Amino acid sequence: MAKIIDRRNKSMGGGSKRDVSRIKNIAVHYSATKDGTSTSFERFWKNDRGWVTGGYHEVVLLDGNVELNYDPNVISNGVKNHNTATYNICYVGAGQPNAKQRKTLVERIAYNKKRFNVADKNIKGHREFSGASTQCPAVNVADLVKESNQSNKPAASKPSKPKKKTVAQMATEVIAGKHGEGHPARKKSLGISDAEYAKVRAEVNKRLGAKTSKPKPAKNRYPLPSGVLRVGSRGEGVKQLQRALNAANFKVGAVDGIYGPKVKDAVERFQSVHDAYNIDGIYGKRTKVRLDKVVN
Ligand SMILES: [Zn+2]
Repeated sequence: MAKIIDRRNKSMGGGSKRDVSRIKNIAVHYSATKDGTSTSFERFWKNDRGWVTGGYHEVVLLDGNVELNYDPNVISNGVKNHNTATYNICYVGAGQPNAKQRKTLVERIAYNKKRFNVADKNIKGHREFSGASTQCPAVNVADLVKESNQSNKPAASKPSKPKKKTVAQMATEVIAGKHGEGHPARKKSLGISDAEYAKVRAEVNKRLGAKTSKPKPAKNRYPLPSGVLRVGSRGEGVKQLQRALNAANFKVGAVDGIYGPKVKDAVERFQSVHDAYNIDGIYGKRTKVRLDKVVN
């Protein structure tokens, strides 16, 4: 963007006003000098021409920056017999604008065209106005207008690629049922490679596994006594053994803490199934280990 140098409170004259709605044209000029600024042009207009107000609302300097001389409601002396309806823009130079100036001209044409709602056909070089007899300006203004229309267009919006979803997002969608049932349908719906889908699938399984698996049974629901128990033993250890045998479906009936024939029988039955070389009806280390495996 060109820098705007505001010299509206320094510019000559400017007393003659109009309603901005009367602006129908944008005129492009060159200064017909190889250099200069608004100040040097004003000297010439005042001293040599005896003008009150200067010629241009805006002057595009050689460096591409813009001197802003008048508000648009000021009638400037740009194009004889057309000034009331014209907004005047001048670039410094006696030939084609340089690259920076050209860029700025395009920018300023676009800006002012929009601001005053000026038709393309009414954006013209000074010399194109009816009754004008001048070479001003060298540049083909229609080309600048064309460029300004291109610059006004919103950048062609590329079809924005949908953002690639993360494995976690895809897994969430799959679980929500957004991609149908069954792995082939889901993979197709997601439009991803086998390798990617494998990751999604793993994530889904992981989550579903975590969600649906029952709370793990508390470890050691049936604590078992250490040491040896046999017929005649009594106490809490025997109760623990009775509970475990009942749980393992080697029923002993009531949990009474007494190692009687029923308990001995149950231990033997258990041993015959789980420890066939050690059927003695006595609860010891071997039986404890095996019973532990079954009930805990
Ligand atoms: Zn001119």
